[in-house]
Amino acid sequence: MKSRRQWPGRVTVGYIAVLSAAFLVAMIAGWSSLAEGMEGSAYDWMFRVNPPPKIEPSSVIVAFDERTLNRTGGMRNLRRTLADVLTRIRQERPAVVAIDVGLYDSANPSDPEDAALEKALAEMPNLVLASDILPGENRWEDPAPRFRKHASAVGHVHAAPDPVSRKLPLELVVGRDRRWAMALEAHRLYVGARAIEESPEGLSTGKAVIPARRESSRALYIRYGEGIPVVPAFSTQFSEVAGKTVFIGITAQSAARDRLMTPFGTMMTGVEIHAQTYETITRGKFLTPASLTAVALVCLFLTIAAGAIFATLSGWPAYGLAAIPIVAAHLTPHLAFANGIIFPYLAPVFAAWLSVFLAASWQYFIVRRQLRKSESDRARYQQAIHFVTHEMRSPLTAIQGSSELMGRYNLNDAKRKQMAEMINAESKRLARMIQTFLDIERLTDGQMEIRSEMFEASDVIGPCLDRARPLADRKQIELRLEEIEQSTLRGDRELMEYAVYNLLTNAVKYSPAETIVSVSAHRDNSSIRLSVRDQGIGMDDKELRSIFQKFYRTKKAEASGEVGTGIGLSIVDQIVTHHGGRMEVTSTPGKGSCFTMVLPTAPASKLVSY
Ligand code: ADP
Repeated sequence: MKSRRQWPGRVTVGYIAVLSAAFLVAMIAGWSSLAEGMEGSAYDWMFRVNPPPKIEPSSVIVAFDERTLNRTGGMRNLRRTLADVLTRIRQERPAVVAIDVGLYDSANPSDPEDAALEKALAEMPNLVLASDILPGENRWEDPAPRFRKHASAVGHVHAAPDPVSRKLPLELVVGRDRRWAMALEAHRLYVGARAIEESPEGLSTGKAVIPARRESSRALYIRYGEGIPVVPAFSTQFSEVAGKTVFIGITAQSAARDRLMTPFGTMMTGVEIHAQTYETITRGKFLTPASLTAVALVCLFLTIAAGAIFATLSGWPAYGLAAIPIVAAHLTPHLAFANGIIFPYLAPVFAAWLSVFLAASWQYFIVRRQLRKSESDRARYQQAIHFVTHEMRSPLTAIQGSSELMGRYNLNDAKRKQMAEMINAESKRLARMIQTFLDIERLTDGQMEIRSEMFEASDVIGPCLDRARPLADRKQIELRLEEIEQSTLRGDRELMEYAVYNLLTNAVKYSPAETIVSVSAHRDNSSIRLSVRDQGIGMDDKELRSIFQKFYRTKKAEASGEVGTGIGLSIVDQIVTHHGGRMEVTSTPGKGSCFTMVLPTAPASKLVSY
């Protein structure tokens, strides 16, 4: 009795197929629209776990905060205050000044405020002015020409439609009119680049490439940092701005319209977001989305790990170890984030959980199936042993009886010889029985190599008929040899004999006395049809479907009083299958059956005569 843990071909293929499905589902789910929202939340969560680090900024925010507005007469006087602030900042020699305040209209050319502002702007080198998309209209709202003409660049200050400011589009096109983001223009002026170079992967101002892919509208993930100084606009002390990029904008609660939620849960005004974007670009420390290949590889690795664990271990050790790919899947996005890579959360988590779940269930069912199989193996084995011991009894009794007679009585030579021959014949029969039994055991186990020899069908049929004749005679059954067409078979002659003999003895066993059992062999294209026909008890269609199962016996067969185990036909079927053939059975209850072995004929001799 063997209980090997077998994972033969079909099971392995099934296991791999199930794991591949887990991998594919994870990858597809990771890119679904549902995933997008969840990815966003996962991303924000990572920001909360890893709060923005302290940075050394190259920018300063000059804020029109609540106090500034209170002291300078509010928004009405904004332009005048701005002109003042600019004049004061100018003296400190900032590198770049970006104004995130809409200077779109200038109705009256002789307005003194606008004139003062224009003068301040004209004196400011490296000036970036803001431009936005007109709400409801498909065009840009630009600074008034009198201001615009003094600007070195006009950058858009349009925030992404996302309620959480995770990324900012560095390029926006309205109609056919394109604007770079204010932060990018400020950076370009800061590094003294003349133009922004474009490639499908990103943008560049001469040095490193900013990872903002064309297909995602050049969206750049903002890597927030802590420490950009904010100077109120009413201040008189602007020394901090020297050599820096200055972002001027409104931060007062009452006036700033453009407040957005940051991933780490605070509100931020537009000007701060632009400064943060600028810092992300200027520091050159980006958050880059992981490539699809990297994600696929990680998911594949997790799936393979889960698969390998359950293929090699079982029970609690397997479940325990399965925690590793699951934990790894949850940790990967965090580790990646700490290294500036945005790794999707859902795909690896799905891949790990799904493959662990499927691998565990698969293993559970395989183990159960193996258990069932070994239970039925055991039952079969017991019955076979039972049968064999039963069959062995008759030759043993004969041997025992004869030897006892020989020992006890003084027998004459002729009698002695007869007894010795009987002992010899019966012990040979015993040996043959043991051999057949062992062969069949090995055949069912798939261990036996089938011999490959050429033989004539008639050479098998003849001896079988001879062997079955005494049985048939006992029931006065005629064994009739019908037409046997000459045909050559290739395979194991002994096994083939076993099969034919089995069909013959069945036909005799399950037929009433004084009937006919006929054997025939016909050639049909490249196969030979070897049939055993009887006029016996027959079977109905339902029974026909089960007779090749091990241990199956019909009720009629049981009632007939004939001894049997129900293994014979299952072995015949295996032998025929091993020889590349199949069984065909037709039967009518009460009328008789016909068992046909359809076997491939051996290819014609390759010998060619010249
Ligand atoms: P056994 O004859 O030892 O019971 P087999 O595997 O040879 O086992 O056959 C399985 C069952 O198929 C038999 O028990 C019997 O019910 C049915 N069967 C086989 N051959 C015949 C036949 N020629 N006529 C009717 N029933 C048959």
